Amino acid sequence: MPLDFLFDSLLNAMTRPTCASCDVELRRAAVFCAPCAEAFVPAEPCSLGGLDVHAAGLYGGPLARAIQRLKFGDRPDLARPLGELLRRLVLERRLDADVLVPVPVPSSRLVERGYNQATLLVRRLAASTPARVEARVLSRLDSGARQVELGRAERLKNAAISFVVEGAERVRGRRILLVDDVVTTGATAHGCARALWSVGASRVTVLALARTP
Ligand SMILES: [Zn+2]
Repeated sequence: MPLDFLFDSLLNAMTRPTCASCDVELRRAAVFCAPCAEAFVPAEPCSLGGLDVHAAGLYGGPLARAIQRLKFGDRPDLARPLGELLRRLVLERRLDADVLVPVPVPSSRLVERGYNQATLLVRRLAASTPARVEARVLSRLDSGARQVELGRAERLKNAAISFVVEGAERVRGRRILLVDDVVTTGATAHGCARALWSVGASRVTVLALARTP
């Protein structure tokens, strides 16, 4: 997106970069200030029920704070530095994909927040990979109950039925990078992956800012 890029360069020139976690001003563009970067714990790739999960870091400390601010602090601008973490991860681990798909949020929360943080992250990432963005291919059926309020067993059952693909031809035979902010049990990612596999996606890999240890 060249216009986006131009706008970003302009913004960069006008505003001092700040730490994504504590807002302290930085001398040069970086995701975190030195003390926050020090407390950041990188995460090894892992497999959750057969699904490959690549997360930038373990959930906690400055990374958790930055994600909370992105999701609940009305700070969509933080998708830029946090998207940078994903960009580096994709490069370092050579995560090739044809299509980038954000994990959808329930429509009630979309209305509340005004944006889906995973979609913002995907758009940041798209500027530096040849993969195509499909932000609307996956949608979530509202169950009425928030995932965090349910126990693990309920959550697995709930996630299994709550995602549908619209426009299967856009993902059929494609390698998908499924993007989320945090992966915990992997139930949500599995729900999405099952929906994508059921219409013929050739591979689904999960990319997240953080995962629980
Ligand atoms: Zn900081």
